[in-house]
Amino acid sequence: MKNSRIPTFTLSIDWEDFGQLLCRDHCSLVTRPLKTIDRQTNIILDTLSQTNQKATFFILGMLAQYRPDLVKKIASQGHEIAMHGQHHINMRSLNKADAYRDLSDSYKLITDIIGAPVYGYRAPYFSIDESNLYVLEILSELGLIYDSSIFPIKLKRYGIANFDTNDQLYHLPNGRSLVELPLTVIDWNRKKIPVAGGGYMRLFPKFYLDRVFRELNDRQQNVMLYLHPYEFDTRHINCRENYPAGTSYSKTKTFLTNMRWNLFRSSIRPKINALLQSYNFITCLKKAEHVKTRTHSPTVLGCPQ
Ligand SMILES: [Zn+2]
Repeated sequence: MKNSRIPTFTLSIDWEDFGQLLCRDHCSLVTRPLKTIDRQTNIILDTLSQTNQKATFFILGMLAQYRPDLVKKIASQGHEIAMHGQHHINMRSLNKADAYRDLSDSYKLITDIIGAPVYGYRAPYFSIDESNLYVLEILSELGLIYDSSIFPIKLKRYGIANFDTNDQLYHLPNGRSLVELPLTVIDWNRKKIPVAGGGYMRLFPKFYLDRVFRELNDRQQNVMLYLHPYEFDTRHINCRENYPAGTSYSKTKTFLTNMRWNLFRSSIRPKINALLQSYNFITCLKKAEHVKTRTHSPTVLGCPQ
């Protein structure tokens, strides 16, 4: 039984394989995932089991097609299975028909693996903004209840300026509705910045994360923690080892990629463990269902074509 006085936040894992993403980006190849995905997934599941927490796993299709056994293992431990698309493509680079294909392919693959529907989606690279809000309509047509892809600030690569930071049920132009669970941002020197995942979690010390998470909770703002399997693995990553045999590569580029993937990465796991022990966490689906039941009239969302 969880303590109801402790703040409750939302916990999500973007389940993807570092080696597959690297080969796709640098060699335009979809390769088998690395064996490290077993170790990383087991570390996540053990950590969640030891802290009695449940998470949403946004499953990447091109990893699931090689490792359906791991998807079933995650589902069997009571965690929510949701979608992270099929090929980890920036959704803004696809037209509407190709976006539909990517989403419907991954929906079919993942629901076939677990033998049950899925209800949520997170776009690769948080790539839903003003230019492709029709992705939300596609999700609603596939029967999904929520999306968690929008950063409510405009950054170089993603986000929508002044998007509502609250979890909301939106009425869409196709007549359906969808809950949006935006990513968490905080006020920093009169600017808004992300805080609850990625490089930001690496940089901020635990005491600071505690302080801002509690402040957000006091203002009735949710914290959406987003994590990746490789962040639970403290071993050094050398991306060169992940290229297929015979691949040519630039030494400088490889050095910079290694630096980006390894810098402060080992600091994340102790912080995650401490956060999991300090707060209650629920899945995105539970959060979305709560938003749906408390909403009497959905907010109307514009949908430029
Ligand atoms: Zn991703």
